[in-house]
Amino acid sequence: MAIKKYDIINVEQPDLSFWEKIYLPAIGKGLWLTLCHWFSRKRTLQYPEQRREDLPVARGGLRNSNYRGLHRLNKDEQDRVACVACFMCQTACPADCITIVAGPAPWPDREKYPVTFEIDELRCIYCGMCEQACPVDAIELTPIYNHIGLTRAEMIYDKDKLLEVYDQTKDLKPRRSPDIVGYTCDRRREALDYWNKIEQKTSKI
Ligand code: SF4
Ligand code: SF4
Repeated sequence: MAIKKYDIINVEQPDLSFWEKIYLPAIGKGLWLTLCHWFSRKRTLQYPEQRREDLPVARGGLRNSNYRGLHRLNKDEQDRVACVACFMCQTACPADCITIVAGPAPWPDREKYPVTFEIDELRCIYCGMCEQACPVDAIELTPIYNHIGLTRAEMIYDKDKLLEVYDQTKDLKPRRSPDIVGYTCDRRREALDYWNKIEQKTSKI
């Protein structure tokens, strides 16, 4: 498709002043900045002897509550997987690395649960959109950043592994909304009624 005339922007080269032409002030500014960094507090760490998790947040330490590392699948207070297999995380994922197979839930407080739930940690870009999309706070990213595997298959985390990560990290980062335990027909109906009301209101405006 040809570029339209109004999409073309002609950029004029700006006229440089005398001081800009000799570059000395710019070089001086650059050197001053280098000097400031020279004497400021160093952020470089000698990993693995020094680690961000050992530092206070104000000094570049790792904040557990919002660090986007390895995923986990949360459990509710009855030790069941909190996920209700709504596919929101899979739909939101820009890297297409979540695979869920849903089945009828064996519990009365929800309709579905994930029969299988897999995340390919090698494809993941750790953007956190799955966490944002989840309506029941069942998937969360943890402060674990040094997860490794010797094969590609090892880096595909299935439901059991993701639930294990929850057990390992629940004290480090408590589940955001432990009170959300399911997503029943009633709750879905309530949510639909709510959105219908909003739609009716906005259509009148
Ligand atoms: S963090 Fe981003 S890329 Fe990774 S699984 Fe979640 S949505 Fe997908
Ligand atoms: S968005 Fe949450 S509840 Fe829905 S499938 Fe993903 S983890 Fe499960």
